[in-house]
Amino acid sequence: MVRQHLTPDGEVTDVFVPLNHDGKYLGVLAIGINPNPTVVTSSHLTRDVTIAVFISIWAMVILGAVFNALMITKPIKELLLGVKNIAAGNFKQRIDLPLGGELGELILNFNEMAERLESYDEQNIEELTAEKAKLETLMSTIADGAVLLDTNMRVILTNPTAQRIFGWDAHQVDGQNILYVLPDSVKIELTRPLYQLASGQPPHELKDGAEFRITIPEPTNRTVRILLTTVLDQYRESVKGIAITVQDITREVELNEAKSQFISNVSHELRTPLFNIKSFIETLHEYGDSLSELEKREFLETANRETDRLARLVNDVLDLSRLESNKRYQFDAVEITQPIEQTLRTHQLNARDKGIELIQDIEPNLPPVRGNYDLLLQVFTNLMGNGLKFTSPGGKVAIRAYRLEPEPVDGPCHVRVEVSDTGIGIDPEDQKAIFDRFFRVENRVHTLEGTGLGLSIVRNIIEKHQSEVHLVSEVGIGTTFWFDLTVVPEKSALPDQPVSQTAPSKPTSELPASTSP
Ligand code: ADP
Repeated sequence: MVRQHLTPDGEVTDVFVPLNHDGKYLGVLAIGINPNPTVVTSSHLTRDVTIAVFISIWAMVILGAVFNALMITKPIKELLLGVKNIAAGNFKQRIDLPLGGELGELILNFNEMAERLESYDEQNIEELTAEKAKLETLMSTIADGAVLLDTNMRVILTNPTAQRIFGWDAHQVDGQNILYVLPDSVKIELTRPLYQLASGQPPHELKDGAEFRITIPEPTNRTVRILLTTVLDQYRESVKGIAITVQDITREVELNEAKSQFISNVSHELRTPLFNIKSFIETLHEYGDSLSELEKREFLETANRETDRLARLVNDVLDLSRLESNKRYQFDAVEITQPIEQTLRTHQLNARDKGIELIQDIEPNLPPVRGNYDLLLQVFTNLMGNGLKFTSPGGKVAIRAYRLEPEPVDGPCHVRVEVSDTGIGIDPEDQKAIFDRFFRVENRVHTLEGTGLGLSIVRNIIEKHQSEVHLVSEVGIGTTFWFDLTVVPEKSALPDQPVSQTAPSKPTSELPASTSP
């Protein structure tokens, strides 16, 4: 209940409020409000000031929070992000906040640091790229094969030589486990050592060693020397990978075999005449008194013949080794008729003794060829000597020389030379081997004097003339050896018309018309 009444101090407003609790009436609260304007005004003022202070505090708190968010938290967040990016290797990171004061300085320094890091990074990348390019060029040009593996035996890098030796396609093996792609013979030898190296065992401690000599039958039948090396980290502590170096030693192996074969052949060939000479001289020395004059003469003749054979063999070996060395020979313009005629003159007597006709068939006005006179003389001597040796009395041996039509028309001109006989001929299965050193058909068939080196010398000399020697032969009919020599390109030496001829004449019992040398 509200009631107003007048008091000597002015009007008073009474407010009565009944007080109840749990349905029980407890009493009445009576409040009298003094209407004194001074008191009211002062209480209003107090209330207004309190509200103003409260609002200003809140406004300041809100303003402070906004300022904090704009001026401190945002730059710090940006800085944090920037540092994270730099740590992740993104050196392009910059912070773009126009701030002054200490935070502004911090941002400036951060940007400078990022710029420096970026330039170092670019420099490093350039250097690394250059180093990588150098290494790749080196890898691709070295004669040895190179394969790089990681510690899980996966192929990281291969060079063309390794790809060729192992018959790999580069893309096919990259990233593959090496043991899946190695040829079987290599895999068998390398599996264990590779595992040992990958587990950190140093190469020199490997039980089987870190160097292997392996023959790869497929695809090219090559012999290789393989070297395994571990790639260590910069502190040389832990294994980072395995480097495999592959050297193709096929040629070395072949040369060694050929050398041993040659030495064993020479010793064998030398031993036979030496043994013969020794035994005949010993017999003469010990039993000379009991031998007749005829026997003594026969023994001496045999010893003499054997000495000749020995001298021939030694000369042939020396000739061949001189030809096979890198000795430089002088090549001039040679009138081919001259060494041919000289050879025929030398063999004339021998041919007459054996009843063999010598034939010279040289096209008139042949141009000079590029050659070495002495070497060509040796070729004709060896071929003519063989012709006479393997032809029976009544047979013929001929030398022909004629110009070939150049092919193509403006190409170099050649003179073809053929040495033919009507002798025993050479079985097709022996035709390839007769040019090998010490190969003699008569080792199996008959025994005629010879060293088995004559045709090797011929082949070598003709190869020195940038040409090849060929043969056409039929057993019982005869043999023709032929080769081409290059005409010296000199206008004045060119004859009127070249003869058109591309294949050598087949050996026949009818050789060209005889022109006695
Ligand atoms: P050799 O000094 O033994 O004659 P070569 O190298 O000159 O050695 O010849 C090798 C072999 O080739 C001879 O042993 C012979 O079997 C065969 N041969 C060479 N020329 C002829 C030929 N004109 N007719 C038949 N066989 C030949």
